[in-house]
Amino acid sequence: MKYIGAHVSASGGVENAPLNAHAIGAKAFAFFTKNQRQWKSVPLTAKSIDLFKQYCEEYNYAPSQILPHDSYLINLGHPEEEPLLKSRDAFLDEIKRCEQLGLDRLNFHPGSSLKAISEEECLTRIAESINITLDQTTGVTAVIENTAGQGSNLGYTFEHLAYIIEKVEDKSRIGVCLDTAHTLASGYDITTPEAYEATFNTFERVVGFKYLRGMHINDSKKALGSRVDRHDSLGKGFVGLTPFNLLMKDARFDDIPLILETPDETIWAEEIKYLYSL
Ligand SMILES: [Zn+2]
Ligand SMILES: [Zn+2]
Repeated sequence: MKYIGAHVSASGGVENAPLNAHAIGAKAFAFFTKNQRQWKSVPLTAKSIDLFKQYCEEYNYAPSQILPHDSYLINLGHPEEEPLLKSRDAFLDEIKRCEQLGLDRLNFHPGSSLKAISEEECLTRIAESINITLDQTTGVTAVIENTAGQGSNLGYTFEHLAYIIEKVEDKSRIGVCLDTAHTLASGYDITTPEAYEATFNTFERVVGFKYLRGMHINDSKKALGSRVDRHDSLGKGFVGLTPFNLLMKDARFDDIPLILETPDETIWAEEIKYLYSL
């Protein structure tokens, strides 16, 4: 079963996310459990939590079809002590929000070295941050997203993801999310059947599909290996439609949230319909 959806708005309360997803015919959704551009936010109210659970049940969204995304401010590999601790606190809060909502995974960007420490040091810090957080929580898997590798952002090779996973103590609560735009921009070709096979075979060998907990389905405004993160609508950019055609028939991507983060939300319903037509 393919669970396709989009990163929908939760403005006005998290309970609006399942409603917004249902309105566009989504069988999966992503959302922010708090304002993604602010450090502080009010706790979830009991009413919001109850309504969120009620709507998810009403519209058939199981936890395995929901992929919340953490705040963009968090850097779990920050080179300096104080902002690192602030990030770890915020990440813990994000995981706890997922726990409260009955969700089983949280998608996050690994972190950035800010060119102040080596990549290896930064990746080790990220793994430590994950271990510290998982120790204080239960039931939620930390899902690392691969990145385009813009600036000093890590997570732009499968080896980075594998390095972090290797250092995480509880392997049952660590996973990955591959973003197709980031995959291409970071230098992994998926645009032809041969390139698609080669890239995902490499992923299987280096990381393993057993860790795959979600996908972000985006085209890319920037070319293969550009290391620039700019999403585009399906078929409009350098990814093209071939990999999405293949992916929809590929059982390795069954039963996980497949989330559109394409820029034109007015065509999400069409994009979802198009993907299901494949
Ligand atoms: Zn992301
Ligand atoms: Zn993404």
